[in-house]
Amino acid sequence: MKTALTIAGSDSGGGAGIQADLKAFAAQGVYGMSVITAVTAQNTMEVRSVQNIDLSIINDQIEAVFDDIRVDAVKIGMLSSAKTVKVVADSLEKYQPKFIVLDPVMVSKGGHHLLQGEAISALKEKMLPLSTIVTPNIPEAEVLINRSIQTEENMMNACLAIKALGPKTVLLKGGHLSGNPNDLFYDGVSFHWIKGERIHTKNTHGTGCTLSSAIAANLAKGATLLEAVQLAKKYITTAIKYSLNLGHGHGSTNHFY
Ligand code: PLP
Repeated sequence: MKTALTIAGSDSGGGAGIQADLKAFAAQGVYGMSVITAVTAQNTMEVRSVQNIDLSIINDQIEAVFDDIRVDAVKIGMLSSAKTVKVVADSLEKYQPKFIVLDPVMVSKGGHHLLQGEAISALKEKMLPLSTIVTPNIPEAEVLINRSIQTEENMMNACLAIKALGPKTVLLKGGHLSGNPNDLFYDGVSFHWIKGERIHTKNTHGTGCTLSSAIAANLAKGATLLEAVQLAKKYITTAIKYSLNLGHGHGSTNHFY
């Protein structure tokens, strides 16, 4: 069986973070493993509090997995602090997994900061150059390149600027622009639009986590980068279409529709 490892934060409400990642891996038929970087007390309405996990136990979790089990792909989500970014980057440099999918998680849909301000430069310097693919949404991309993105044309220039930060490929997600949520994939040679359809629902909690995990699972199963992105986009679109109206806020995507 193919395997994937998520290095991310826990969402007690089960909709985003580690919980979404493991469900997405399972839905793709991939064996999931997890390294928890932070614990959030969270539901569909809000992130109430966050506790970062000690750096030594983050490092130990990574070593425990890699020292024993084959890891076919890694997905990285919430990293919280600059020190966590450094520990994770250093250990990935040591173990050199074949695929690293980086979801540069910064702020929750409810506005809670999941990456401290000073961690952004660490993320750019240490994590982006290690990534096989980085999957920012528009606000995250704007922070990474310090420039506003308002049109699909801007997205092409933004991809070039993000690629210059060192990842092998870029998937810039266009869902925050008006119109259909079209994403742009750039591998340093050519651009591919991954077209989407707008689904009108409030239940979109954890969509970014789910998409990046589905990309990692498909890479683990042997898909090319472009195929992995296309398959993951199909999966997230249906997962949103059949999203779950749980809780009183933003319900989550449905991994097993
Ligand atoms: N909580 C955790 C642990 C996350 O990793 C993320 C996003 O990656 C979120 C919350 C935010 O989820 P959303 O913005 O989809 O509500």
